[in-house]
Amino acid sequence: MIDGTFDVAGAAGPTHFFEGLTAETLSHGYLFAGPAGVGKKTFALRLAQSLLCVTPKTTLLGYCGTCSGCTRVTSGVHPDLYFAEGQVKIGEREAGGFHAAEEATARDLVRQLSMHSYAGGYRVFVLGDVDFTREAANALLKFFEEPPPGVLLLLTTTAVARILPTVRSRLLEVTFPLLSNREVAAILEREGIEPDVAAHAAEIAGGSVTRARALLDGEGTMRDAVVEWFFATLEGGSADATGWATRPTLEEGLEVVKTLTRDWLAVRVGGPDVPLLARDQAERIGRLPQRDPVAIARALGAIGDAERVARTNVSPALVADLAKMALCATNVGA
Ligand SMILES: [Zn+2]
Repeated sequence: MIDGTFDVAGAAGPTHFFEGLTAETLSHGYLFAGPAGVGKKTFALRLAQSLLCVTPKTTLLGYCGTCSGCTRVTSGVHPDLYFAEGQVKIGEREAGGFHAAEEATARDLVRQLSMHSYAGGYRVFVLGDVDFTREAANALLKFFEEPPPGVLLLLTTTAVARILPTVRSRLLEVTFPLLSNREVAAILEREGIEPDVAAHAAEIAGGSVTRARALLDGEGTMRDAVVEWFFATLEGGSADATGWATRPTLEEGLEVVKTLTRDWLAVRVGGPDVPLLARDQAERIGRLPQRDPVAIARALGAIGDAERVARTNVSPALVADLAKMALCATNVGA
């Protein structure tokens, strides 16, 4: 028997939660909820590896890293680990086995859920940020009616409101909070980023490793697009939201809008020397129109409302319009 390792950054709460479980108390379905880029999918895959590791261990959580189970998981070829991201649709697709595509069909899922374990142990399904069609949800509900022993379903989501209540009510929810700047920086440093650079990216990324990596990869274009849109909206230019108001970037884009609005409010209330979140934009924020702080605070609330709308199926362009209206409304009565 060995003490397995469980190498996941942050996620102290979820780690503690699963550490307390045994094979007997492990449920058949969990919903990992939390903002994008905080390690939900990584955690799910490491949990899967813990269960598929064949080295006898003292705890449920943890793996050896070297056995056949571990190496199959890390190389993405374990037959008892099913991983899908994106949309789970129902529909016809050419016959043939499931291949690790971004889109899984509900039929794949039903078939996979009913199959027996290849290695004789657990079967683990990791469904990352999936959008379920009603048919796919129904397929899952059939699973919940009579969950076969040894099957574990791990769903991750950035918006629990988008998970159908009938599915959600059958899953145990585990919350993943934003990472601290220090945790984000530590993860980046482990990936070989210089400490200074890591610390700066972590600060801008606001608790999301994914966002920090994107910034470092020069994929800061989404943020740049939001910044340009934000200033154009308030300075009366032509505000083009197409660079960020897309389904995959909408929520992070609104986060940037909120950060900039918060900074605008901070400058209006605290003066030009107040510390800002978007430090790189301090000069432009300082030059923004001198509007009533109460109106700006109200806009911030309305952008929060737009964020909630963003988690529904309303079109991203419309959500961006809501945010724009919120910002423009600060001008009323001025
Ligand atoms: Zn192992």
